[in-house]
Amino acid sequence: QVKAEIVAVGTELLLGQIANTNAQWLSQQLAQYGINVYNHAVVGDNLDRVEEAFLQAQGRSDIIIVTGGLGPTDDDLTREAFQRISKLEMVEHQATIDKIEMYFKNHTSNMTPNNRKQARIFKGCTVLKNNAGMAPGMKVELEGKSWFFLPGVPREMKRITTDEIIPFLRNLTGDAQMIKSLVLKFIGIGESTLEHELKDLIIAQSNPTIAPLAQDDGVVIRLTAKGSSEKQLDELLGKTKEQILARVGDHFFGENDQTIEQVIVELLQSKNKKLAAAESLTGGMFTEKIISVSGASSVCPGGLVCYDTKVKQNILGVAEQTIQEEGTVSEACAAEMADQIRKKFDSQIGISFTGVAGPNEIEGQPVGKVYIAISDANGYKKVDSFLFTGARFSIRKRASIKGLEILFN
Ligand code: ATP
Ligand code: MG
Repeated sequence: QVKAEIVAVGTELLLGQIANTNAQWLSQQLAQYGINVYNHAVVGDNLDRVEEAFLQAQGRSDIIIVTGGLGPTDDDLTREAFQRISKLEMVEHQATIDKIEMYFKNHTSNMTPNNRKQARIFKGCTVLKNNAGMAPGMKVELEGKSWFFLPGVPREMKRITTDEIIPFLRNLTGDAQMIKSLVLKFIGIGESTLEHELKDLIIAQSNPTIAPLAQDDGVVIRLTAKGSSEKQLDELLGKTKEQILARVGDHFFGENDQTIEQVIVELLQSKNKKLAAAESLTGGMFTEKIISVSGASSVCPGGLVCYDTKVKQNILGVAEQTIQEEGTVSEACAAEMADQIRKKFDSQIGISFTGVAGPNEIEGQPVGKVYIAISDANGYKKVDSFLFTGARFSIRKRASIKGLEILFN
């Protein structure tokens, strides 16, 4: 079993100024070719510590991919550190010198001695062509371990990986270890309930693996299968998907990149229905989700942000009596809002959101209290009330998502 490791060099990573997206991307690539990544290391621009990280990698990993620290400036120390552990000489790579000289000639500026540093390569290495920048990547074999050195700039790192490293990995693993993932998406069910329903499957999992994960707008299960052909992977994933949906299929709404708002828009399209929302505390968040879906124009004429009571009353047309007797955060007000928005926007379905986003209570109602009403042209009407916890933003967001969930059901 080949063990891979990614070593990212750069103090800015340790300071939290940038995220280690290079390691994230490389890990995804390696996973696709069935190569197990056992370690991510991050180390600052310090010669001793880079050397130490390299020694550790050499000791525990078979494939080591290093990103960053190959540039022309003095704080770029990757070469020096690897020299220390490999005792390899550095030589100038003539093709790179030519490339750099050509660049400076074309840009009528002068090449500094620093720039020559980018052309220094380990003697005997395999040069990895950089089609997106100056400094080439390098592949070095050291005592049975394969080292890859890549620039830190993500665009260059990706380009060299795709052009030069992936073909190498493909050779290494052949087709024997392909990996494929399938993400199943659920709404209206909590992570713990889902896990409970699937407990025996999760305990017995091996291929594919089953990993539930809570997200903002529901719960997802990531299935990851290993196999030797596309067909085998699809069969493995399909069989487990069936088992899962037999238990919790009622809450299943889509796969992979599909969003709940896309599913709602498709549902409305298939029924030839239009939807409009009257939004108080959500301030347009719900409508924003619907309209973010391409093709939304056929199902959503618009919506109304009716935050102030006067707007609810004078523009939306909620009865003054309702507001005075029941308040704006009430079942009755929510129901009228949904009715009115449906009629005013010439739609078959109206939905409304009214509640208390916080930080202060309103009309004696607690923070987090939200009413969501649905009204349709056949006279169907339903009002649900919720008590969401969290800060203002998350209450508003959860109310918007709950609206999508109600429509889905
Ligand atoms: P260059 O030849 O351009 O100097 P380099 O090999 O010296 O490249 P660094 O100087 O370490 O690489 O990084 C260049 C830039 O690439 C950084 O400023 C940063 O924006 C980005 N970068 C470096 N490492 C990472 C990483 N692990 N993840 C994401 N971005 C990174
Ligand atoms: Mg640099």
